[in-house]
Amino acid sequence: MTNSAPITQDVLTIPRKLPEGPTNLVGLTRARLREVLIENGTPEKQAKMRVNQIWQWIYQWGVRDFAQMTNLSKAYRAELAEKFVIAIPEMVSRQISADGTRKYLVRIAGGHEVEVVYIPETDRGTLCISSQVGCTLTCSFCHTGTQKLVRNLTAGEIIGQVMMARDDLNEWPEPGKGTDENGPRLLSNIVLMGMGEPLYNFENVRDAMNIAMDGEGISLSRRRITLSTSGVVPEIAKTAQEIGCMLAVSFHATTDETRDKLVPINKRWNIAALLDALRAYPKLSNSERITFEYVMLKDVNDSDEDARRLVQLIKGIPAKINLIPFNEWPGSPHERSDWDRIQKFADIIYKAGYASPIRTPRGEDIMAACGQLKSATERARKSRKEIQAEAGL
Ligand code: SAH
Ligand code: SF4
Repeated sequence: MTNSAPITQDVLTIPRKLPEGPTNLVGLTRARLREVLIENGTPEKQAKMRVNQIWQWIYQWGVRDFAQMTNLSKAYRAELAEKFVIAIPEMVSRQISADGTRKYLVRIAGGHEVEVVYIPETDRGTLCISSQVGCTLTCSFCHTGTQKLVRNLTAGEIIGQVMMARDDLNEWPEPGKGTDENGPRLLSNIVLMGMGEPLYNFENVRDAMNIAMDGEGISLSRRRITLSTSGVVPEIAKTAQEIGCMLAVSFHATTDETRDKLVPINKRWNIAALLDALRAYPKLSNSERITFEYVMLKDVNDSDEDARRLVQLIKGIPAKINLIPFNEWPGSPHERSDWDRIQKFADIIYKAGYASPIRTPRGEDIMAACGQLKSATERARKSRKEIQAEAGL
């Protein structure tokens, strides 16, 4: 990818207004949706059917307006419109890279912003979503780690990112049609690899992912959802039991000494404790393989010895090792490992019998890498301000 590649950017200046007051139905579990309908006057006897109908309109057909829910009586639609809203986060900007990667900046209640990235590939389209604004953890190589945690996203804001991307990709089936009647999906996979530590926002992530997997809606298989954690050990078994999605772990080092520095949560739950939890995961969740993410940092974790130790450590765990060339950011304390070093490292792992894909940097022309979007946007804003100041505006 060259920097001269064409970039399209459109800033949406007219925000979709988030109404205040009425309850937002997006992000409620089916059980909670039933409760709020009953609390607001839906007869208990009808509640189950109403939940099914409303659920399908919202999550199968992407409808946001009660008036379009034509299998409900007009009077009931009017009642719903008075008491509830169907609201998702607002898209502030969208950039489309020459390679098709789409990067969105999304505004949530309170004016905070998170990033969402859509990565199209030949056989799939992956949406990378955020679970928190900022992060409480301080991994040394991660730009999000330099930003303070502002707050957890709600379940509605998490599933709302998926809904927003489906809007943008124009992927909702026509009312009456099934989710898979539209041909191959543009958005076929979700990865929780944007901002934040998903297992520090467990309930909201769980509820949002259960909505994504619900067969009468977005209907993504649990095998197409990957949750990435830095290693919040006590929540790993819960993830298997209550979500059952694929798991990725930010491993990044092969000794506690180095991992303590790179991924400081290691001081609380060290490599041995993490590996114990990971060993139990596939059985508990009935999933095949765990993805070990390993960011390649020059002279820090990229030696042949590290590669050999890595395969030794994960022995017996069905695994795939994802080597991530470090994405440098302004002021980052690390450098990306040289290309031949990364390849040598990959080779050792491959010869030990593991798949070891090197993650190709995507959307580099729009800085679509982890934690970089917001900083790039903030910089752009700052320079706009500076330009204005210079011009005496
Ligand atoms: N908090 C979770 C999920 C978000 S980070 C976690 O830590 O797993 C998603 C992935 O991007 C993690 O593997 C993280 O280690 C990696 N990552 C973060 N910053 C990066 C950078 N600058 N270059 C390459 N990978 C990075
Ligand atoms: Fe937080 Fe993950 Fe970044 Fe670590 S790598 S600071 S856990 S977002």
